[in-house]
Amino acid sequence: MSSSRVLESITTSPFAIHPLSSGQRPETAREHIARSLPELAQLERLLAKAPDGVNSRIEASVALSDELHLPIYSISLGTRDPHAPLLLLSAGLHGIERIGSEVLLGFLAGLFERMQWDQAITTLLEKLHIVVLPIVNPGGMLLRTRANPNGIDLNRNAPIDVEPGQHKRIFWPTGGQRLGAFLPWYRGRKSSPMELENRVLQAVVRRAVSGRPVAISLDIHSGFGCRDRIWIPYAYRRRPIACLPEMKALADLWAGSNPHHNYQFEPQSNHYLAHGDVWDYLHNQLEQELLFLPLTLELGSWNWLRKRPRQLFNRLGLFHPLVPHRLKRAVRDHQSLLQFLMSAVASCEAWLPATDDRESLREAAIELWYQE
Ligand SMILES: [Zn+2]
Repeated sequence: MSSSRVLESITTSPFAIHPLSSGQRPETAREHIARSLPELAQLERLLAKAPDGVNSRIEASVALSDELHLPIYSISLGTRDPHAPLLLLSAGLHGIERIGSEVLLGFLAGLFERMQWDQAITTLLEKLHIVVLPIVNPGGMLLRTRANPNGIDLNRNAPIDVEPGQHKRIFWPTGGQRLGAFLPWYRGRKSSPMELENRVLQAVVRRAVSGRPVAISLDIHSGFGCRDRIWIPYAYRRRPIACLPEMKALADLWAGSNPHHNYQFEPQSNHYLAHGDVWDYLHNQLEQELLFLPLTLELGSWNWLRKRPRQLFNRLGLFHPLVPHRLKRAVRDHQSLLQFLMSAVASCEAWLPATDDRESLREAAIELWYQE
């Protein structure tokens, strides 16, 4: 199907967030975006009134037709000290998991407001740099697909395969397949470069971490199980990551600072392995340069379904809270994690383990997370 046909079909589709009624005049590209990708319009409204010290840039545009180009924005703020630690937040890698973008838009809106009056935030932002990519896959989000507009699953698309001998932990085709875009979880052709959205992500991450000693990233997804999970790598192998002691220290810091939290902090490989995970790939590329802790927040969206089973009949229903009060709650519920990560990055020297403590932390993490 050509991209204009795709657009035509979703314009009239009952899955569109606000479907057009028949007989209305055809809408402009701008109106189409405002209706079908309200998160992008919301982001642009936020950026238009961002306080001093916030920089945004369009890293690339995804073309869906001659008229319809969707920007991939990055927003940066905090200290300009090039050696300060970094917090990197991203969402929307999977187009149907739009709740992640909503969580980051809520975060940015609150932060922009507080930057104008809260001296504690001003002081905090002098100690870290923050880069946010709230909508990594705007084409997929507009089209209501997990994949990007080329039908490729961006988190199966990086050039990294599950380690040999671990194939029992990959569930085909969800772990990534190369048959074609007619099935979900398509990795793309082996000989092709990474997709544009992933190349943008790679370029932004590389630029942002350059010269810094420490970075923590959080990429937000939804759709796995009933619990909210914070996942540590890897997706491509069961063997623990080299920075396991630091991950355990961070997990302990979070649990101690938020005693009533309800997240399951664990390696992703406890559940499944997958080919082509872009964060595994970026981490492997960068781990010699800095201490880089990539986290995934996986929102347990099946609860929303349990409370409202007819969501199953909506294409977004498995991944997104469709009732407004539940959406608000989901956005609200995760703000304390983001606030915590800002503080943890800004004060990383206070909790990152000393060399002598790393071995005991590693043993504790293996005992907790890697018992078969
Ligand atoms: Zn996802």
